[in-house]
Amino acid sequence: MVSRVIPVEPFDLVIFGGTGDLARRKILPGLFRRFCAGQMPADARIIGAARGDIGQQGYQDLIRSAINEFGAPSAESLEYLDAFIAQLHYVAVDICGDGGWDDLSKLIRKDLVNAYYFSVAPSLFGDIAARLNSWKIATSEARIVVEKPFGRDLQSAKALNNVLSQQFNESQIYRIDHYLGKETVQNLMAVRFGNLLFEPLWNAQYVDHIQITVAETVGVGGRGAYYDKSGAMRDMVQNHLMQLLCLIAMEPPSHFDPDAVRDEKLKVIRSLAPVAAHHVVRGQYDATTSTASYRTDAENLRSFTESYVAIKAHIENWRWAGVPFYLRTGKKLKARTSEIAIVFKKLPHSIFEKSADEKQNVLAIQLQPNEGMTLDVTIKEPGPGGMRLVHVPLDMTFADALGDHSEDTPDAYERLIMDVIRGDQTLFMRGDEVEAAWKWTDPIIEAWEARNDVPKLYDVGSAGPEDAMALIHRDGRRWREVK
Ligand code: NAD
Repeated sequence: MVSRVIPVEPFDLVIFGGTGDLARRKILPGLFRRFCAGQMPADARIIGAARGDIGQQGYQDLIRSAINEFGAPSAESLEYLDAFIAQLHYVAVDICGDGGWDDLSKLIRKDLVNAYYFSVAPSLFGDIAARLNSWKIATSEARIVVEKPFGRDLQSAKALNNVLSQQFNESQIYRIDHYLGKETVQNLMAVRFGNLLFEPLWNAQYVDHIQITVAETVGVGGRGAYYDKSGAMRDMVQNHLMQLLCLIAMEPPSHFDPDAVRDEKLKVIRSLAPVAAHHVVRGQYDATTSTASYRTDAENLRSFTESYVAIKAHIENWRWAGVPFYLRTGKKLKARTSEIAIVFKKLPHSIFEKSADEKQNVLAIQLQPNEGMTLDVTIKEPGPGGMRLVHVPLDMTFADALGDHSEDTPDAYERLIMDVIRGDQTLFMRGDEVEAAWKWTDPIIEAWEARNDVPKLYDVGSAGPEDAMALIHRDGRRWREVK
């Protein structure tokens, strides 16, 4: 069953960039859902801080329409909307100047939990951090939340970490990777470390290979200019896919506490072998008669940026020696799905029909669209006619298992913001983790740039470029179907 909602302490949460796209689409609708669930105390306050003198009423109107547009509120939850909106405040702030900081300072109740969400471009992080301190707004207990992208390479990530660490301790910094807030991601840890069943099999002796897929049907949409400077490697692999890889591959932490978990994740990243050039495939979606190409969407007709990446990775440690981790992510693919599949080895010997030893157990963990897990097992086909075997999925779709309560499950942003208020950093990336991740991806990107690598074209609505199929076929394996 879904865990009972435990209200958090009263807080003042300041959202720098509180009028922006992320705040309106994700952060405020998420907070509204927590309010409806009874988790947000009546004297908690959310303070939008942004450019533009729209005033308190203007801000409340803006967020009311954002919740209606993006929050998909139920008729029942709309009864709570006025009360939630009454907890919203607004301060016009000039992040790079002096305007508004005095007003903000006077508004904050420093004896409560204080959190500052930096929902602005990373180039502004340093200015906010410095002014929070020079205006004596942030206390030593205050928390700051920073959004991705956290740098675009090791050097810029180090620079960002330096800027933040001049003003805040690591224990105050919450680097968001919203994939870590997903229910199934935490369930992955519960399955691994809360059951005796899987952990003994979770190693090179029993696991044949692991596939991590994050497939999107959308293209670069309105984010073309931003995405074109980034690409799938920086936008998805360096953060989301590597975080999933860490949770799958890490050793059991001694406790479920922030540093114990993050220490183990860091060890995984540091054990990743450098990736050989022929173990990476870059792709870019091509035009069809009815859909535009990546280059048209990105408004850069000479772009060599990848909208797809597939990688074969290896972790050099005892547990995973020789086990390939196949990672892939792409845009405009045939279906929207995020899945981790642990493919176990074939039977060493079958006492049944000849083909029975070809079947492999697969534990597939689905992150989206429907969070859940399936375990493919071999059973006898029911009925007479001898011992015929079939391979069937044991389906553990959470919506079925949890019944009506599954709707109460908070989404990733909701959960992570509440974790910030509780002061729990377990699901946030530590500075050294982010740097280690860039250290692994930088040489791959630098090699592409050095040889002006041209991405392979793939059709919109396909499963990705042909070369990505060949990457896994060469090893006698197949990608799981994107569906
Ligand atoms: P946005 O451009 O829609 O909004 C920017 C906000 O910052 C606005 O509220 C604006 O008033 C404020 N702002 C900008 N300059 C300011 C200044 N000098 N002084 C005061 N306020 C200022 O941006 P966004 O899409 O909401 O993205 C915010 C951050 O979140 C970015 O770092 C982005 O990369 C990251 N992010 C966004 C999304 C998304 O879906 N939009 C997803 C993941 C990460």
